[in-house]
Amino acid sequence: MARTAVPGRLGARLRWQAAALVERREESATARTLVFEVDGWAGHLAGQHVDVRLTAEDGYSTQRSYSLASAPGGDRVELTVQRVPDGEVSPYLIDDLAVGDLVEIRGPVGGWFVWRPEQPEPVLLVAGGSGVVPLMSMIRVRGMLGSRVPFRLLYSVRDPGDRLYGPELDRGAPGLDTSYVYTRAVPPGGKRPAGRLTEQDLVRWGWPADFEPTCYVCGPTGFVEAAAGALVSLGHDPDRIRTERFGPSGG
Ligand SMILES: Cc1cc2nc3c(=O)[nH]c(=O)nc-3n(C[C@H](O)[C@H](O)[C@H](O)COP(=O)(O)OP(=O)(O)OC[C@H]3O[C@@H](n4cnc5c(N)ncnc54)[C@H](O)[C@@H]3O)c2cc1C
Repeated sequence: MARTAVPGRLGARLRWQAAALVERREESATARTLVFEVDGWAGHLAGQHVDVRLTAEDGYSTQRSYSLASAPGGDRVELTVQRVPDGEVSPYLIDDLAVGDLVEIRGPVGGWFVWRPEQPEPVLLVAGGSGVVPLMSMIRVRGMLGSRVPFRLLYSVRDPGDRLYGPELDRGAPGLDTSYVYTRAVPPGGKRPAGRLTEQDLVRWGWPADFEPTCYVCGPTGFVEAAAGALVSLGHDPDRIRTERFGPSGG
């Protein structure tokens, strides 16, 4: 059978590479950041993800997608994994993968859900749960480059204990505004009662549509559809709304 030629850069992205776990960090009771060393990592753009493949001793293999949390640079990549109860892969990555262990990584993947530092327009980031991961990569690149592009992050979590990157977001950065929507339990001094993200939240903490921001919406499928729908009904141009759904993946 004839083989299809794969161009060089694409070929590199499709190739599985060994990734060694070099550090684990607790982000919440149910989420960990895993730092991997990948020799010859080609680099990535903020917003992209990788595929992670695990192979058991008996040859059984499975893979899942995880967003890159880190700013690009060097041979290290950071992923933040949220435990899915009864999940096959996420509990293993969180509980069992030890420093020094190897997994395989392929990527980076994705060319639409990315923020490029040369984009001049304001940015609205809308996150549901672990959907904040690729948005954090955008925030980190912006900080690393000293960019002054105005960023607003609207981050929906069940309760304060579920927040990822809390201390880093609390430290803030010039021109970055972070607001929280708590769906189950609000901390003392919270600015709204517990409940799901509404159009009013987007009006209060987002950008007006006529500022023509680029909006990045990421999280579980239902959250993404609701938030993107609300942005459209507030007048945002659908072409400026980029979405990433964290539904089940792999196989
Ligand atoms: C592009 C992309 C990027 C992603 N980035 C991240 C990331 O940065 N961090 C992260 O933690 N996850 C991320 N995910 C989700 C991740 O790929 C897995 O789906 C997740 O870790 C669950 O895998 P599992 O093997 O533990 O669960 P599975 O064994 O696959 O599923 C167990 C049960 O949970 C349900 N389920 C599976 N995934 C989810 C989910 N995400 N939310 C709710 N229920 C689910 C399944 O339908 C099933 O009933 C991303 C997904 C995509 C498509």
